[in-house]
Amino acid sequence: MKIAVLKEGAGETRCAAIPETVKKFIALGAEVAVERGAGDCASIADADFDAAGAKLGSRAEVLKGAGIILSVAGPDAASLKGAEKGALLVGALDPLRRRVAIDAYAKAGLQALAMEWMPRITRAQSMDVLSSQSNLAGYKAVIDAAAEFGRAFPMMMTAAGTVSPAKVFVMGVGVAGLQAIATARRLGVQVSATDVRSATREQIQSLGAKPIFVENVAGIEGEGAGGYATEMSPEYQEAQAELVSSHIAKQDIVITTALIPGRDAPRLISDAQLASMRPGSVIVDLAAEAGGNVEGTVAGETVEKHGVKIIGASNLARSLAADASALYARNLYNFLSAFWDKEQGRPVLPDDDEIVKGVRLTQDGKVVNERLTAA
Ligand code: NAD
Repeated sequence: MKIAVLKEGAGETRCAAIPETVKKFIALGAEVAVERGAGDCASIADADFDAAGAKLGSRAEVLKGAGIILSVAGPDAASLKGAEKGALLVGALDPLRRRVAIDAYAKAGLQALAMEWMPRITRAQSMDVLSSQSNLAGYKAVIDAAAEFGRAFPMMMTAAGTVSPAKVFVMGVGVAGLQAIATARRLGVQVSATDVRSATREQIQSLGAKPIFVENVAGIEGEGAGGYATEMSPEYQEAQAELVSSHIAKQDIVITTALIPGRDAPRLISDAQLASMRPGSVIVDLAAEAGGNVEGTVAGETVEKHGVKIIGASNLARSLAADASALYARNLYNFLSAFWDKEQGRPVLPDDDEIVKGVRLTQDGKVVNERLTAA
């Protein structure tokens, strides 16, 4: 089995393999071919891949006869000629927004596997690219906020007087939010956080932050289905808006991470609420690409409104390319090795497996994933 590792297109800094995973694939009996320069943006030299046992070459050379293609962002089907018929294309393929590209994978006879559709089940935790990348994004959001903030984060008692600690409010306590809380705490700030899922209250407290919850209208019990939130009732939204209004004016930094699968991000901060914040405050909106939690967010840009900087964070994991690549590459290895059939020397993906049903988009020339065929 030949595994091809692609060099990503412009804007994507991560790489789908690292020398460690190359060695592990070779130990499974595979041959690994890495496109020259694939690791450049993630601080992995071609020589490091070579030392791990990979063969380096042009795209055409690495694809020739490959049965598995590893990528981060989904490549164009037209750029994948030469791979085996039925080759597995593994990546964060963004199926809903790249439907045309997914159809092209089917037409090209590839079996496309979207890693971001990995089910959130215990068995798949080590394969979960959304978690591995969100965790890094949560950390980076706090670091970026600190860099934009014109004051210090921790309390400092100096001969020239005391610098008071900053106040950070985290809205949405999933994977990114939890890491944002932990990172902010390490920087010595006062942290508060909110979510609609009641199970997060204890998680917030266990990280030493203060839970700020809507008390008079019921939220989502426990973890919520699959750990995800749904759209809240108008009564809840109203109560939440009141809660935010009373809390946000006293905050210096707000990190918003709230997402609802398959929908636009919920609006959590209005323009009027922004206007109540102190000038110089900073908001990092991690939901920017899903429409934003904050009124006025622009994905990929920093805008200023009422003296408050709003960072429309877009794929922050890309700015930590070395770590993001390492975690992503291990997710891919954990997935493929879990299905590796030693006798056949390749992964065998059973049709009735929950993980396979979740991630498989195309097979035998057709789009087969229910989330796409039902759309
Ligand atoms: P997400 O990115 O979908 O959403 C981020 C957070 O925003 C969630 O906590 C959500 O409840 C919250 N949110 C949504 N609407 C909101 C609103 N109106 N106000 C405030 N908050 C709102 O979530 P995620 O980071 O992908 O993780 C969700 C959960 O899944 C977590 O509990 C996580 O631990 C769990 N998880 C489980 C596994 C597994 O078992 N394999 C893997 C990853 C994550």
